[in-house]
Parts: sequence; C-alpha cells; structure tokens
Amino acid sequence: MAIGSVGVVGAGQMGNGIAHVLALAGYEVLLTDVREDALAAAPGLIGRNMDRQIARGALTAADRDAALARIVPTARLADLGPTDLIIEAATEREEIKHRIFAELLPHLKPETILTSNTSSISITRLASRTDRPEKFMGFHFMNPVPVMQLVELIRGIATDQATFDACHGVVERLGKTSATAEDYPAFIVNRILMPMINEAVYALYEGVGNVHSIDQSMRLGANHPMGPLELADFIGLDTCLAIMNVLHEGLADTKYRPCPLLVKYVEAGWLGRKTRRGFYDYRGEAPVPTR
Ligand code: NAD
Repeated sequence: MAIGSVGVVGAGQMGNGIAHVLALAGYEVLLTDVREDALAAAPGLIGRNMDRQIARGALTAADRDAALARIVPTARLADLGPTDLIIEAATEREEIKHRIFAELLPHLKPETILTSNTSSISITRLASRTDRPEKFMGFHFMNPVPVMQLVELIRGIATDQATFDACHGVVERLGKTSATAEDYPAFIVNRILMPMINEAVYALYEGVGNVHSIDQSMRLGANHPMGPLELADFIGLDTCLAIMNVLHEGLADTKYRPCPLLVKYVEAGWLGRKTRRGFYDYRGEAPVPTR
C-alpha cells in the first residue's frame, strides 16, 4: 500500500527526528505529544536541526520551509486517525505504549499500519493487544535520526509481507538502509550495544576507571567515535535502564542485570543530555564528568 501521511506519537528527541526526516522526504506528518511544552517546542527544534543541514550544504532554505510546512503538531491523538502509517515514539514504558495504541484504534482506517520505535519491547506483545497484529511491526530509528543511516525493521510473529514491504519502502524513500531483526528483546543493535554501556557503568561503579578514563579508553583504544558513558547520556539513561530491564527480564540471564549505579542516576533524575546532567554535567560551557 502507498504511504502518504504518517502520524508520529511522541515529540521527544526521537519523535522530532522522525518527523524531520519524514517531512524532508515529502510525507505529511501529524505529530503529537501529551506534553504541551514538548509539542510547542518541536517545530523550532526541528527547524534548528534542519538549519545545521543547511549550514553543511545538505539542504536549501526552501526545502526546510517546505518540510516544516508538512509537519502539523496536534495535542489530540485522535487527529492521527486518517494517516496511513503510525510511528509510535513515546517514552519507553510498555503500559504507555499499550495505552496509546488502545486510544488510537477507534480512530484509525482499517488499512493503517501501526509501528513502534521501541528500542526493546516485544513487538508481538504490543501487536497482540491491537485489532491488527498482521499490520503491526517495529520501526526502529537510531539517534540522531537525521544523521544515522540505519533503521531496524522488526517483524512480530504475525506481521504480514505487505506491511513489511510498505515499511521497507518508507525506509528507502528516506534514503536510509534497513536491517531486519527478529522480535527478541532489544533486537540487534541494542542487544549488543546496551550490555557494553552497562558494563562501562559497572567499570565506573567498581572504580576500575573514572568517567573520563572509561570514555577515553573506548574512543582511543577501540576506535569508538563516542565513549560509552557519553553515548549513554546521549541516548538517555532512563532509556538505557529500560532496555537493560527488558533484556534482563526477557532473557532471564543475570549477565543483563542493570548496574546499580545506572539505577541511581535515573533515580536522581540525572538522565543525560536531555536533563543537562548524567555521567557528564552539561550545565556549563563544556561537559564536566560527574565522577
Ligand atoms: P524522550 O523522553 O525524548 O521522548 C518521549 C516523549 O514521549 C516525551 O516527549 C513524552 O512527553 C512523550 N509521551 C509520553 N507519553 C505519551 C503519550 N501517552 N502520548 C504521546 N506522547 C507521550 O524519549 P526518546 O529518546 O525520544 O524515546 C522515544 C522512543 O524511542 C522510546 O521507545 C525509545 O526506546 C525509542 N528510541 C530511543 C532512542 C534514543 O537513543 N533515545 C533510539 C532509538 C529508539
């Protein structure tokens, strides 16, 4: 089926990025969030991110203006009803996602495809509570969405081929590359990435190194473009913890136990860049390690 319009649920860092790339590719985007401030800030944030692409010569001001005009923010979830594809990118909590889909269902066209940008939650379980498990799949963008090339496409047990093909077509129109993952906890990228980040937090917790030495070791010693703690701040420590919990519970293996220090940072509300404090403090001019 042809996708012309997309409803994006959640105007956080991922939802904004997803709206950004969809609008640039020519899709009509309806963007919603329960937080009025997040929704009100979204067009400005997306516009500033597009300005960076203009500065790099990757975009013209006319493209930006046309794309921004294709993004319609709305506080009412029901307004997303007439769209062809829903990409849910709300907070990584399963009950929130179930509630969003339940609220959306009565307003949708029968052919609308439902997807979730979840980093770790079972696609099959999310799908099973909807009226269309065969038209439900995982559509997992990487952060920052306008920069990262990969999209993981995750089939639930019931996902049909037409749904997969339609989502694959969207990834191609975005000029991105897809990798197909089976529906097991955290899929491919986070199954491998998160235990590494969690291990870096353990190294910090046990005093093997401090924030600076751990990040520097992985940047210069393993050629990673960012250190694991810097990357964790970028992703959001609440999201990292949520993914570790899904791995721990879903695979029932103690090797996935979340580090108590990661739990502590989340309890403190030090969630990384989005709250201006995590493993680094971002409130000054340059990030300062917190340990
Ligand atoms: P975020 O905290 O920046 O944004 C989440 C947004 O969802 C918030 O603005 C919040 O108000 C909104 N929200 C919460 N409940 C809602 C509801 N009922 N209806 C509408 N909006 C609601 O989080 P994020 O980093 O953008 O992550 C969003 C999703 O994307 C999660 O599922 C996460 O696992 C996934 N993801 C995150 C990353 C990453 O690096 N941060 C990467 C890939 C996927």
